[in-house]
Amino acid sequence: MTIDGTQTLLRQAVEYGCEYLGSLDERPVVPDAQALAALGNFDESLPAQPTPPADVLQQLHRLGSPATTANAGGRYFGYVNGGALPAALAGRVLADCWDQNAALQLMSPVAAKLESVCERWLVDLLRLPEESAVGMVSGTSLASLCGLLAGRNALLTRAGWDISQQGLFGAPALRVVMSSSAHATIRKALAMLGIGTAQIELVPADAQGRMDAKTLPPLDERTLLLVQAGNVNSGAFDPFIPLCEAARRAGAWVHVDGAFGLWARASAATQQLAEGVDRADSWSVDAHKTLNSPYDCGLIICRDRGTLAAALQANDAYIHFSGGRDGMLYTPEMSRRARGVELWAALKSLGRTGVDALVTQLCQRARQFAVELGAQGFHILNDVVFNQTLVACEKPELTTRTLENVQASGECWCSGTVWRGQPAIRVSVCSWMTTADDVRRSVAAFAAAREQAKMRNT
Ligand SMILES: *Cc1c(COP(=O)(O)O)cnc(C)c1O
Repeated sequence: MTIDGTQTLLRQAVEYGCEYLGSLDERPVVPDAQALAALGNFDESLPAQPTPPADVLQQLHRLGSPATTANAGGRYFGYVNGGALPAALAGRVLADCWDQNAALQLMSPVAAKLESVCERWLVDLLRLPEESAVGMVSGTSLASLCGLLAGRNALLTRAGWDISQQGLFGAPALRVVMSSSAHATIRKALAMLGIGTAQIELVPADAQGRMDAKTLPPLDERTLLLVQAGNVNSGAFDPFIPLCEAARRAGAWVHVDGAFGLWARASAATQQLAEGVDRADSWSVDAHKTLNSPYDCGLIICRDRGTLAAALQANDAYIHFSGGRDGMLYTPEMSRRARGVELWAALKSLGRTGVDALVTQLCQRARQFAVELGAQGFHILNDVVFNQTLVACEKPELTTRTLENVQASGECWCSGTVWRGQPAIRVSVCSWMTTADDVRRSVAAFAAAREQAKMRNT
């Protein structure tokens, strides 16, 4: 195949992509039974012979596009899954043509430049310490792993233990203090770092899922304190000022899981929720959630650049560092896609006021859900402070069946959870695409789903 063939194919891919995006408003938010059944056509043995690329692409569109969830549309409210901003999506398509490796400046000058510009912009936008380093990883799971790794190593170094030389076995024991409502990925990161559940001290969460600073155990210089900007269910924020002050007095390391909530710092309407969070040592946040950069783009931000780089170092004679900012200094990976390109495009296209407006809009739509669902007799279980609305019906069984019906309706899609012992429906407004009308349409789908659930019961 020649480069002409690649160009033809790429134009076709963009054509299919545009057709797909154009269909989002009409098609069901989840694939229908026919689309799911058609996925069976992928179950063939590995072809012995080549397939013409145009046929490959055509099959992908024919079978693949209908079997997607309409995450890119305005009525997908599952988990906390963001949409993709136009400039960021288009920038990514261009970057995919470049096929750059963002490990070293030498491998991609443009990727290195855009990563360093994004680093500066992000620290400014989120109002974090100016000297902070930002590593671009796949998501908050990995970002938290990096933050906890930096914290673990820093605390052990201060205790006179050189982890890179002496290893973890026999090292002074560390304590971990975190909320009982910490995200599952935090427990996973701790387990990967050799910190077991027996070393974790849980602080009870209040009715909103916030850590209660009054019940914080005494901290010391061997403690990792894990706090949260945005509870995955309620969107609630921990009280950072007293928590970070207690940590600072004790010499503990504070890591913030701010996967979607750290963006509260970028909006005048929500910044007070995350006041004092800049006093922490490291932060993880997703650009692919609230900012609506395409998947996958997570950020590890660390106040002490040297500590993060030391925790993630890899050296060999064949690796030529620039002496400046090489991406692999701040990430566990070496070869890595140039995530800074679409991140730059997202930030450049929105600007400071655009990010503020986006965050503000997501929160307004979440409140609109609360008001309109409340008016329909649904119970709103949380204080809607950010982009999350937690919903229940009069009875737990009715909530469960209503959620099933909402999910089957194709009108909108939400995921469920258990909140304070009862089933609840999570509405996460996370896409720039969601309009006030999408919310109204979804509220109507909720009401219809509950009616249907009541009828089935009688
Ligand atoms: C989504 C989320 C994570 C995990 O982030 P990934 O990008 O999926 O790895 C961690 N913490 C919170 C609070 C989240 O919402």
